[in-house]
Amino acid sequence: MVDSSIRLLLFGPPGAGKGTQAKLLTEQLKVLQISSGDLFRYNLEHGTPLGQRAAAYMNQGLLVPDEITIDLFLNKILGIPKDEGFLLDGFPRTIEQANALEGALAAGSRQLDKVVFINVPEDELIRRLGSRFTCRDCQTPHTVTDGEAGVTCNSCGGELYQRDDDRPESIRQRLQVYQSKTLPLLDFYGRREMLLDIPGTGSIQCVNRRVLSALGLDNLSPI
Ligand code: AMP
Repeated sequence: MVDSSIRLLLFGPPGAGKGTQAKLLTEQLKVLQISSGDLFRYNLEHGTPLGQRAAAYMNQGLLVPDEITIDLFLNKILGIPKDEGFLLDGFPRTIEQANALEGALAAGSRQLDKVVFINVPEDELIRRLGSRFTCRDCQTPHTVTDGEAGVTCNSCGGELYQRDDDRPESIRQRLQVYQSKTLPLLDFYGRREMLLDIPGTGSIQCVNRRVLSALGLDNLSPI
């Protein structure tokens, strides 16, 4: 029986495979996924006012300021009915965001159930991000090695492109931002005894099985 009221946060460094794991878990747990990166990218691609405000930060590998981000995602999360679960992918990403989320959930007598940290060493992240191409239509990430031309999305056939922030000059910047702003969440959620530290190396299926097992959900069908 799936517990579709579970409230999860997935976090980890850029390139850890959060988005991929989030999609699998969303299907397996039958919960709503809120991906901050996907939402910002959609707005960027469509040139909305939000996208225009976020563009300069995103393209340089910086975080969009908390003044924009916190209200945006709290509104979305608080809009989810109380008895329904959710999976957060990419928000919160700073201590300020985590405090704001905790306060907002507590005001409605809710809290996160578990925080899944996908742990991948830095040299592997740099290798993965440099060869990551993303589908323009469905956002699925793909690994494209040198010399492979004209590859399309194996999920929907859409065009693949390299995100500006996956170019080499942005990658180091994003990893630095992650170290200084996001990594402190390990301690924040560790102290609340919510943290599950999952090795993120190995196949997608293998990482998925580790996450399900850490959640005590080995009975769910792995993908
Ligand atoms: P991601 O796809 O999760 O790597 O996010 C892509 C970009 O969106 C990040 O590099 C940031 O510029 C922006 N972004 C996503 N989530 C957040 C957040 N919680 N706070 C600030 N900026 C964010």
